[in-house]
Amino acid sequence: MSGQAKDLVLVLNSGSSSIKYQLVDPSSGAVAAAGLVERIGEADGAIEHKAGDQVVEHHGPIADHKAGLQLVFEKFAETGFDLAGAGLCAVGHRVVHGGEVFYRPTLITDEVVAAIAALSELAPLHNPANVTGIESTRELLPDVPQVAVFDTAFFHGLPDAAKTYAIDAEVAAKYGIRRYGFHGTSHEYVSGRVAEVLGRDPAEVNQIVFHLGNGASASAVRGGRPIDTTMGLTPLEGLVMGTRGGDIDPGILLHLMRSAQLDVDGVDKLLNRDSGIKGLSGVNDFRELQRLIDSGARAARLAYDVYIHRLRRYLGAYLVGLGRVDAITFTAGVGENSPQVRADALAGLEHFGIRVDPGRNTAENRAARRISPDGAEVAVLVVPTNEELAIARAAHGLVVS
Ligand code: ADP
Repeated sequence: MSGQAKDLVLVLNSGSSSIKYQLVDPSSGAVAAAGLVERIGEADGAIEHKAGDQVVEHHGPIADHKAGLQLVFEKFAETGFDLAGAGLCAVGHRVVHGGEVFYRPTLITDEVVAAIAALSELAPLHNPANVTGIESTRELLPDVPQVAVFDTAFFHGLPDAAKTYAIDAEVAAKYGIRRYGFHGTSHEYVSGRVAEVLGRDPAEVNQIVFHLGNGASASAVRGGRPIDTTMGLTPLEGLVMGTRGGDIDPGILLHLMRSAQLDVDGVDKLLNRDSGIKGLSGVNDFRELQRLIDSGARAARLAYDVYIHRLRRYLGAYLVGLGRVDAITFTAGVGENSPQVRADALAGLEHFGIRVDPGRNTAENRAARRISPDGAEVAVLVVPTNEELAIARAAHGLVVS
C-alpha cells in the first residue's frame, strides 16, 4: 500500500499502560498496519508494529502515551506511511464508558473530552486511559477529526426492566447506577454480520450473541436492538471471565469486608484480577486452562464447568426473553476458537431446535460460518468480531456525512 492515508482511519484503543492500534480502510476492511505499544511509563517499554510483511519494533522506556504515539508515527514512517503529513480521514477512539451521555459515535471536542473524563467515576480503570490517548492524539494530529466510539452505546436503549437495578431508586439516580452493558461495538457488529450471513433483514432476526474473550458478555438482540445483556454498571457482571467472576452474591463482599477487613482496593483486586477462571484454576488464558484440564487438574475442570454453567444460565434466560430465537453466535478469542466451549454450551438442547454439527464445529475455518446442521431450527454461528473495523466505519461515517 502507498503512503497515502486520506481514506484510512487510525483506530486507537488506549489502556492505562498500553495502546493497541490499527490503520484501517473502512470500505474494504483492509488493515494497512497494526501494532501494540506496551508498558508505557516503565523502563522496558515495547512497540511491535506490523505493516504488510514488515515488522518493526521498539524496545526501551516510553515516558507516556504521547511519547508512545510519537514512536508509533515513526514506525509508520519507517514502513512507508507519513501519517501526520498525508493526513488521515479520522482517528477513531474506543472509549469504554459513555454513561447516559453518549450513545452514538461522537466527534471529539474539548467538551466531549471533559464529559468522558467526568465519567471516570463509573469506569476508573478505563476512561482515564481513554482520555489520555485522546488528548495525546489531538496534540499530535490537531487537524485530523477525532471520533469517540463507546463500548456502552449499543446498549443505551435497553428496556427499563433490563437496565434497572432493584436498589434504592434515589441512590441509583444520584450515582448513575444502572446497567450500561459493554462490548457493545462487538455485539452490534457481530449481530449485524449474523443477519448478513443468514441473508435476512436484521429487523426480523432474534438472536443471542456470546462474546467470549478475556472479558466475556452475552446479549439478546431482537430485530437489531438489544433487549438484555450480561454486563452491568461495570464490566464485572454476568459471565465468568479470565480474571473476573461475573455474577456473585454481593453479600460475599460484605462478609469479606467484615471478616477479612477487605478494603476498597482489596475488593477491587479480588473482583477484577483474582476471580474468574484465574481465581479458580490459577491461569486466565483459556488455552492454558485446556492444557491443565487435559493433564487432569481438578481445579481447572471445575473452573471450566462453572464457566459453562453460567453461559447456559444466560442462554436459558435469553431464550425465554426473546421467545423465538433464530440464531446463536459465538465470537472473540474463546468463542471463535474453542469448539469444546461451543459444543458444551449448547449440548442437549435439541428440543429447543438447537443443534451443533460436530464436523462444522471443529472444522478449521476463520470465516463467519454456520456450525448448525442444514435445516436446523436455530442457526448456530461462529462470527469473528472486528471492533476495529466497526470503529473505523463509525468514525468514517461521522466525518464524511
Ligand atoms: P480480549 O478480551 O483481550 O480482546 P480475546 O478476544 O483476544 O480477548 O480472547 C482472549 C482469550 O481467547 C484468551 O483466553 C485465549 O486463551 C483465548 N483463545 C485464543 N485462542 C484460542 C484457542 N485456539 N482455543 C481456545 N482459546 C483461545
